[in-house]
Amino acid sequence: MTNKTSTNFWGGLALWKKILVGMVLGVIVGAIMGPSAEMLKPIGTLFINAIKMLIVPLVFCSLIVGVTSMKDTSKMGRIGLKAIILYLGTTAVAITIGLTLANIFLPGVGLNMSITDPNVAGKEAPALVQTLLNMIPKNPVNALASGNILQIIIFALGLGIALTLCGEKGEPAIKVFESLAEAMYKLTEIVMKLAPYGVFGLMAWVAGKYGMDILLPLIKVIAAVYIGCLLHVLVFYTGMISFIGRLNPIQYLKGLVNPAAVAFTTTSSSGTLPATIKAAREEMGVSKGISSFVLPLGATINMDGTALYQGVCALFIAQAFGIDLEFSDYIVIILTSTLASIGTAGVPGAGLIMLSLVLTTVGLPLEGLAIVAGIDRILDMARTSVNVCGDLMVTILVGKSENELDESIYNKAASRLDKTA
Ligand code: ASP
Repeated sequence: MTNKTSTNFWGGLALWKKILVGMVLGVIVGAIMGPSAEMLKPIGTLFINAIKMLIVPLVFCSLIVGVTSMKDTSKMGRIGLKAIILYLGTTAVAITIGLTLANIFLPGVGLNMSITDPNVAGKEAPALVQTLLNMIPKNPVNALASGNILQIIIFALGLGIALTLCGEKGEPAIKVFESLAEAMYKLTEIVMKLAPYGVFGLMAWVAGKYGMDILLPLIKVIAAVYIGCLLHVLVFYTGMISFIGRLNPIQYLKGLVNPAAVAFTTTSSSGTLPATIKAAREEMGVSKGISSFVLPLGATINMDGTALYQGVCALFIAQAFGIDLEFSDYIVIILTSTLASIGTAGVPGAGLIMLSLVLTTVGLPLEGLAIVAGIDRILDMARTSVNVCGDLMVTILVGKSENELDESIYNKAASRLDKTA
């Protein structure tokens, strides 16, 4: 009877809570067992291998679907292009903020973790020009087989655009990729069920080997991500609203309170979409046409918070394992995160899987992923809110530039919010 209740209790717990429990138990067990906790590491390795298994097919299929879902872009031409440029441009800024903060906070410095995967250690980074030239795969099958992520991204984007341009003839293949992408999301869900155990194994190993020294760096990661998110919204977005949109940024901040709160609690920008659309129309005065096109596009391809988080975490892991990153690695991180954001689903925890992609591209050890996984929910809350705030900012700017922003509604956002509060 007791057993049944406890199974139900565990089974009924949300995944992120299970992961947190896994992390806390791992730290405790590791601290008690000391270096002999290494014997628990294989549980973590199993989880890491399962994630590795997902990366190539997941990225390939979801990027193709990300591109083909923008079908309307060609119809809406100018508006789509404006939105996409703003979405990708702001994502690149976000990740730069993340990288900068990780260089200020240095969350991983002093951890001195050792690399166990010999393929990763001492990897020579190719020169920047070479990296850029290499982005185009001479042989896409080879790129898929060897897991060259940048090449896979470029090929997937190309194939997605081509399939869209094929019109009716492209439809069957698009359907196949849509169905495969769905299956990969399902498989990701299944693999993520292993996360609490994987995180337990790896945290026990890390805590056993490095003691409690691991906790402070994690707090620093959380601080860097939260400060970065605040800066991105309060300085960069409001700056864009004021200087490019010539609008009052305070109204923007007041209008986004509701959707940001929904995003913070649900950690899903797709799930927040109804609240985002409502805010754009009713609080900010964006027309129906613009908001119902630009916002769903944003929930699919715009992930500023996620990119910022990936910048912080990639550097944290590099620092923790004592790997020096070159300038070209930074460029590769910015490129990969920005392009990968197109294929990141707006669902809880998607950014963590995409982080594995960024790590693989610059040759950083995936063991670091499990350490971040323990605190991922806390980070997801902040990054999803930023993703949604970014969607709204771009929608307002596009609406304004198309004369589809009712400024009388926009300027009243503050007073209406006061009444509903
Ligand atoms: N949860 C995020 C979102 O829905 C994606 C992520 O995990 O970074 O926007």
